[in-house]
Amino acid sequence: MITLRNYQDKKLGVFGLGKAGVSTIAALVVSGAEVYAWDDKEESRQNLQGVLTGKVHLVDPVRWPWTELAALVLSPGVPLTHPEPHYPVKMAQDAHVRVIGDIELFCEAQPHIHKIAITGTNGKSTTTSLIGHILQSAGRKVEVGGNIGTPALSLQPVATDGCYVLELSSYQLDLVQTAHFNIAMLINATPDHLDRHGSMEGYIASKSHIFDRQNRHDFALVSIDDDYSRSVFSAIKQTSKARVIGISLLNALKQGVFVDREGLLHDKLDPESPASVKLYDIVNLTGRHNWQNAAFAYAACKLYGLATREIEKGLRSYPGLRHRLQMVSTIQGVRFINDSKATNASATSYALAPFSNIYWIAGGKAKEGGIDSLTAYFNSIAHAFLIGEAEEEFAETLEGKVPYTRCGTLAAAFAAASEKAFADRKLNSVVLLSPACASFDQWKSFEERGDAFCKMTEKLLDKVVLGKK
Ligand code: ADP
Repeated sequence: MITLRNYQDKKLGVFGLGKAGVSTIAALVVSGAEVYAWDDKEESRQNLQGVLTGKVHLVDPVRWPWTELAALVLSPGVPLTHPEPHYPVKMAQDAHVRVIGDIELFCEAQPHIHKIAITGTNGKSTTTSLIGHILQSAGRKVEVGGNIGTPALSLQPVATDGCYVLELSSYQLDLVQTAHFNIAMLINATPDHLDRHGSMEGYIASKSHIFDRQNRHDFALVSIDDDYSRSVFSAIKQTSKARVIGISLLNALKQGVFVDREGLLHDKLDPESPASVKLYDIVNLTGRHNWQNAAFAYAACKLYGLATREIEKGLRSYPGLRHRLQMVSTIQGVRFINDSKATNASATSYALAPFSNIYWIAGGKAKEGGIDSLTAYFNSIAHAFLIGEAEEEFAETLEGKVPYTRCGTLAAAFAAASEKAFADRKLNSVVLLSPACASFDQWKSFEERGDAFCKMTEKLLDKVVLGKK
């Protein structure tokens, strides 16, 4: 846990008692602060039970001693501006109390430790965990957290030669006021969460905060492949003191890092000593979207001081994240892939793109637009196995274009897909769970759905390879 010495004997409000809020309160209490805490939801207030000590008051903000508070620490899930500031934010503004997030507290407490910060619409968790893995495998001291895994204030302190790798959402970035990041990156930007940011401009402005206050020793890594990121690249090139570096999969850059169509990464960070790294045969970084994540991870690690061969070793040994194009096993030449995190058609497009001969398990609780946008990939699908509420809708879209079977449940779809893939004996075939749907019609979460797929695969492996029943 991180100690917040500046707040000893101070009073703070903490609003929002999810993972980050509870972690903030624990760090404040250990540091000798007095905390006023609240959440609109009764069940979230119960999260606090373990942390409730004499110096934590669980009371509604209308009864907080606002004139005595040093800050309001807001959870990233609570509206700061859109659709309108939530009532504790308005109260803080009226009382001239600053509104910050846990990342601000974290950075205040660790000003001299190197920080690598990652944001973007897609690929944040993959890139963050990949950077953490590469640094660890090169023997560097590193702690990984923020919007992924462990909240920042629950991370272990690292010594001055260590480093923090932080995944940051746009909501978290809105709540950072004085911190700066030594290496900051924007992987990509497409419309998302516009309800909370008001407009695409608002969303981009939030993401761009990751580059605020960077100095001439710092690095800003920005994609130049989508219009929004490119506009950020141009803007900060004008305004930032940091070295601004472009990352691309579409343009052969003279400076920066780019990945060509074949999946070869070209390092032109220092034009005097270019390097290249093969990405195309790294199984756990399959797909062009993962090449984008790998390019950012490569650049960050190189600028942090690693040698190309150290980074390559880390890229090759990356175990992948669960439920994101996770290669579970290969059985009789058929690859079984768990992409349960793909809860919409756009995410599923990244799973369909790199493969052919796909035995595709899809369905669940459909999102608007269904799978209409996936027609470009239909040729790669050998057979679709449909499950859940979306069965009818998906069957209609596939009719006459892709052979399909209505299976109802994941278990039935898994059995039918594996049986057919084994019988067809097509080259490089994959049984792919990439549902393009939320899981809530049949599962508690996409994790539970993906875990079930992994268990079925392991059982099948035991049966086929070891002859177990
Ligand atoms: P995030 O943390 O931003 O939600 P993840 O790394 O968890 O991103 O990946 C979630 C899903 O987003 C993946 O399953 C994949 O479908 C898609 N994805 C991952 N990286 C990228 C990328 N660079 N560009 C576009 N989509 C991506």
